[in-house]
Amino acid sequence: MLTGASETGRRGGVRHLVTTDGLTREDVFRWMRLAQTLRTLPRGVLAQRLAGRVIATLFYEPSTRTRLSFESAALKLGAHVVGAENAVENSSAKKGETLADVFRIVGAYADAIVVRHHEPYTMVEAASVAPVPIINAGAGWGEHPTQAMLDVYTIWRELGRVEGLHVAVMGDLKYGRTVHSLLNVLRLFPGIRVTLLHPPSLGLPETMAQRLKAEGLQLQEGGPLADVLPRVDVLYQTRIQRERLTSQDELDGASQYRIGPVELALLPAHARILHPLPRVDEIDPAVDDDPRAAYFRQAENGLYMRMAILDDLLGGDGR
Ligand code: ASP
Repeated sequence: MLTGASETGRRGGVRHLVTTDGLTREDVFRWMRLAQTLRTLPRGVLAQRLAGRVIATLFYEPSTRTRLSFESAALKLGAHVVGAENAVENSSAKKGETLADVFRIVGAYADAIVVRHHEPYTMVEAASVAPVPIINAGAGWGEHPTQAMLDVYTIWRELGRVEGLHVAVMGDLKYGRTVHSLLNVLRLFPGIRVTLLHPPSLGLPETMAQRLKAEGLQLQEGGPLADVLPRVDVLYQTRIQRERLTSQDELDGASQYRIGPVELALLPAHARILHPLPRVDEIDPAVDDDPRAAYFRQAENGLYMRMAILDDLLGGDGR
């Protein structure tokens, strides 16, 4: 059940955003334009859009930006927020309740459910029984669709277009769910070239790479940074997902994929560095003040993109 705002994934008229699979380029542009509009609306007007609605946030894995930006987005749109942080410990998951049952029940209390879960597919399956929109706020090593939407929104705002760009994704491409969703969204845009830069054991899962290529994305393995970086428009850096590694050997070679002043100097003047954050040691703070470092602007864009997604799925324009 793979859905954006397309017909796929509708059940009784309910639209979910649990994976990027069913999305279209039109969905992406609609949300980007809506995010642009929402960021200009006066506070009082904004607060009418979802007035009286209730958004539930269920986080079974840790989060700072995603949870707070979703909750702020909902509050700014006039909705109320109820939630369970650390839901593994503080919800009936502890008693063995399935996510499908949680969705049925919380769906009777709230108008949408934002959920982060440790398993990559469970929420995709469970969403099929949910009576209200389910929004994936990160699912294990699998996907993170709303992050991909704010990433693409940031590229569009920073560079004025998405099509035809050369994007290098660097770091942990194996367990990094934001990369999985981002590449699946980039494949919707013509002329995108993607270069993969990663430690030997942390490449993109093979089935994912094959599928993206079969669907037309130009995907290539990168060589030395000195050859690749001067040719990119976007450098999408990620952290090593240490909490998901199955062996410390997977870390071999990771230290080569860091960005400091030397790597920064290789990038074209118009290029942008993105990172879903949190950063650990893969971007030197000395890079932060360079205008090409777009990651803090990217995090701010998340608020407006999450507003747009909530507004659209819940019909904030009065639908
Ligand atoms: N915050 C992002 C995520 O939840 C990236 C990360 O944790 O590295 O996937």
